[in-house]
Amino acid sequence: MKKKNHKYIFVVGGVMSSVGKGIAVASIGKILQARGLKVTAVKIDPYVNVDAGTMNPTEHGEVFVLDDGMECDQDMGNYERFFECDLSRANYMTTGSVYLSLIQKERNLEFKGRCVHVVPDVPLEVISRIEHVANREEADIVIIEVGGTVGDYQNVVFLEAFRLLKFKKPNDAILGLVSYVPALGTGGNELKTKPTQHAIRNLNSVGIHPDFVVARSPMSMDVKRKEKLEYMCGLHKGDIVSSPDVNNIYEIPFNFERDSLGDLLCKKLKLKSKIVDFSEWKRFVKKSKNATKEINIAVIGKYFDTGDFFLSDAYVSVIEAVKFSSIWSGAKTKLTWVNSKDYETNPKKISELKSFNGIVVPGGFGTSGVEGVIMAIKFARKNKIPYFGLCYGMQLAIIEYCRNVLGWKDAHTAEINPKSSHVVVDIMSKQKELLEENNYGATMRLGAYPAILKSGTIAYNAYGTKKILERHRHRYEVNPKFIQEIEKAGLIFSGMSPDGKLMEIVELPKSKHPFFLGTQFHPEFKARPLHPHPLFTAFIEACLKRNKKHEK
Ligand code: GLN
Repeated sequence: MKKKNHKYIFVVGGVMSSVGKGIAVASIGKILQARGLKVTAVKIDPYVNVDAGTMNPTEHGEVFVLDDGMECDQDMGNYERFFECDLSRANYMTTGSVYLSLIQKERNLEFKGRCVHVVPDVPLEVISRIEHVANREEADIVIIEVGGTVGDYQNVVFLEAFRLLKFKKPNDAILGLVSYVPALGTGGNELKTKPTQHAIRNLNSVGIHPDFVVARSPMSMDVKRKEKLEYMCGLHKGDIVSSPDVNNIYEIPFNFERDSLGDLLCKKLKLKSKIVDFSEWKRFVKKSKNATKEINIAVIGKYFDTGDFFLSDAYVSVIEAVKFSSIWSGAKTKLTWVNSKDYETNPKKISELKSFNGIVVPGGFGTSGVEGVIMAIKFARKNKIPYFGLCYGMQLAIIEYCRNVLGWKDAHTAEINPKSSHVVVDIMSKQKELLEENNYGATMRLGAYPAILKSGTIAYNAYGTKKILERHRHRYEVNPKFIQEIEKAGLIFSGMSPDGKLMEIVELPKSKHPFFLGTQFHPEFKARPLHPHPLFTAFIEACLKRNKKHEK
């Protein structure tokens, strides 16, 4: 078989962060995928952390988890959602992980006694990792997103990796700059290209000239501004793509196509572009516009408790999972963020939950806000409000049930009260050893594990299959000691690990509650635009039914 000639598109940011570079990369991949090309992506984060697992979600946003257990940046979730694929740890690297493997190689004498340098050894290690992904996935195109912005000291070695790769394969590597173009002036409608000119000059100073520019701006960039930027920075006509703010990120690939980005990239990479097939994606975007049945869901958590600063980034996969299921069910869902601590200081406030169609408690760690969450779960159970608990949301639902139905007033998780007489959620013995060694990095139960479903349950009916594979990220598990008693009191463990030892899904029977279900895993990581997650869909359907009841 002839070896594939892989192509590489590096994408770097200019002017400032948080302008949607990850979404731009995902959208570029989508338009190339729609041309029948095999596309994959690599994310490079320039921090020293070896992975994203030890990072605080209020600072960094969600920690996304892959099938193989890699804890990574939320952009990996964007790629998986846009490409409808499952990525692996090979698709993610940080400065820390690159240095770690270089140092290990050096310790193993793999450099045969020579001196190992930051340049070129670090960029060469980066290139070899990228080429490994290209070969392993037999990709036509690998898109490499370099975190941060040009001019940051910390991503210089990654820019050098591009320079070296381009030097080695001049016809196979291009670089795009996603840059912010602010609107200022009287009326705030004058787009300013100067910061982008400086970003390009910054790139030039490390020997790189961009092949294309994605101009992120509040409104579309007019021809005059494009011409100015082309002229000032030595870009060709057509090299600048305007990417104005949009309400729906899934429309961005169409905006890029409208500016002929697909043709431009294929031309620059000397690839023959094939017929564009966007029909399914188009259907999805159209459906999202037609979704009109309004429902309100309360998301109860604590990772948006950052003073004035609201960070829904911490729950981005949950938001997207709700969105996909809502769209395909014709629902327009509004999410309301509720800080559980408010219920602890003002218990009367809890009655506000009555007005919601459903309640979600996403994953979390630690003590703060937990009692407020348990109060909300009790309210949802008693008032028959659809409830969906994800990971911590499942563990806390079990604690609530044990306290208020079984009467075990001190029921708790070992994470908070290991001395309770009813530790209904306990630490696994291997996890305990690791914690005693202060070993926190990548030591949880991580990644995809199978579970077997009980027929006739909500979970089984939603999935329509007996065996599932879902992604985990947790240290604690339902304590097997109490399972029998809990089941006797009415909760059903509808999903278990194949050996029957680990409880993966818990639910109340439909005769007792319209939807009261929790998962030990994170279903949100596997929700895709064209393949919404079955449990989220079952939850949304239950929320819609409650709407009908309200209307009566
Ligand atoms: N803190 C809990 C545990 O470690 C739940 C984790 C989560 O919600 N991801 O088991």
